[in-house]
Amino acid sequence: MGVIANGVKLDEAALSGLRAAFRGELVRRGDRTYDERRKIWNGSIDRYPALIARCAGVADVSAAVRFARGTDLPVAVRSGGHSFPGQSTCDDGIVIDLSLMKGIRIDPEARTARAQAGVLLGELDQATQAFGLAVPAGIVTHTGLAGLTLGGGIGWLMRKYGLTVDQLLAVDMITANGDLVTASESENPDLFWGIRGAGGNFGIVTEFTFRLNPVGPTVLAGPIFWPMEDSPKVLRFYRDWITEVPDDLTTIVVHRRIPPLPAIPTEFHGRPVVTVMSCYAGPVEEGEKVVRPMREFGSPILDLCQPKPFVAHQSMLDASFPPGQWYYFRSADLAELSNDVIDIVAARALQMTSPLTAFPIFQLGGAIGRVGEDETAFNGRSAGHTININATTATEAGFDEEREWSRSFWTALKPYHTSVYVNFLMDEGEERIRQAYGPKRYDRLKTLKRKYDPDNFFRINQNISPN
Ligand SMILES: Cc1cc2nc3c(=O)[nH]c(=O)nc-3n(C[C@H](O)[C@H](O)[C@H](O)COP(=O)(O)OP(=O)(O)OC[C@H]3O[C@@H](n4cnc5c(N)ncnc54)[C@H](O)[C@@H]3O)c2cc1C
Repeated sequence: MGVIANGVKLDEAALSGLRAAFRGELVRRGDRTYDERRKIWNGSIDRYPALIARCAGVADVSAAVRFARGTDLPVAVRSGGHSFPGQSTCDDGIVIDLSLMKGIRIDPEARTARAQAGVLLGELDQATQAFGLAVPAGIVTHTGLAGLTLGGGIGWLMRKYGLTVDQLLAVDMITANGDLVTASESENPDLFWGIRGAGGNFGIVTEFTFRLNPVGPTVLAGPIFWPMEDSPKVLRFYRDWITEVPDDLTTIVVHRRIPPLPAIPTEFHGRPVVTVMSCYAGPVEEGEKVVRPMREFGSPILDLCQPKPFVAHQSMLDASFPPGQWYYFRSADLAELSNDVIDIVAARALQMTSPLTAFPIFQLGGAIGRVGEDETAFNGRSAGHTININATTATEAGFDEEREWSRSFWTALKPYHTSVYVNFLMDEGEERIRQAYGPKRYDRLKTLKRKYDPDNFFRINQNISPN
């Protein structure tokens, strides 16, 4: 007899077979932990899977895939649960959840790190920084390493060392048949090319092996704030300044209201600002010289760019993006901050209404562009910037208006879009996914999909259809 979970019948005999071999936790509707386990980071996504298979190891992942194959149910893969469009959960399907898989092994001599798929960015930093080493990754420590890496991975160290995906030496992966394969330059190199940018399409990565790079542990880093109405002048100066800076420096411009954080004096809380956030990944004294022209420009109201532990800088933005709030964004790569782009950005920034909305413009270039365009599936290595027009509200109240602001801002920038970073896509359809990879790379990915997942078993993702 099947049991109804949201109208879906699970085969009880097959489920008992899975349970007998499974080391992790199987969670179904009605279970005490179901509501907690089905939650993902974006509070605007509320889905009810029929089964959540919380895997404790590689064998569990393989067993969950084989079980799911015996059903016709949709399958979502979850590691950190930070997909903006909610592509790590589904209604009436099976979630294969890797968040329990937290193993990390550092080899400081060989400068390599092995990390299982459930590791979060902050957990990896904590392990690697103990040896003064790091894997370049994203800017919020509660983001999942797996989803971030498989789409590319941009963050504070990218201009010096490249994308997260550029550090990859190998992955272990469970395919759509439940088999374990390794992908690296020497084993299944076609797959290794594809997972470096379009990863979720070909299987479930259980473990990553990364190259490590020396960083800090102290770096010169942090935000400098100007009043938001100064944005046109600040951005023009910033644009010229960054043409001269070395690749040790990565910057991100953020427009927002200053959040009420303990590190910021209360008189500044709530002020609309444009901020230039820096991270200089070389010697602090050199960083001071590089950052000086920017910090001396105009009349900053607050300057928190100072020497600090790299891990402290990494977690600086965590409190601004807590789980459970309502999030939406639209994104695009831009070649440059032309006067027209700056004027649009500055004007639209003044129109945001939610005090929680904060939109970053990432400075790309440096080491990202030194990897050949055809070496990985990641696209956009020659872009100058990525803008992520993030609209955030605490709850549903005001969400539609803020989302409309994001969409209309993005549309105003349309003449300047070059491509888009795949991890910054919402559920936007096939044409946008094609834009994210470019037509040539997209066709190559389709061929790879036909080889490794011809039935499109892994389809709740930025999907490359095999057809
Ligand atoms: C607060 C916040 C900050 C962010 N900052 C950055 C940033 O600085 N830089 C950046 O590059 N990106 C950033 N992102 C985007 C981020 O890279 C993506 O949201 C990414 O998908 C998150 O990975 P996850 O494991 O948490 O996601 P999940 O929601 O668990 O998974 C997302 C998708 O990845 C795939 N996937 C997940 N795990 C696996 C696996 N083990 N094997 C195969 N496929 C898998 C699945 O297809 C799934 O649909 C940020 C996102 C958030 C929410």
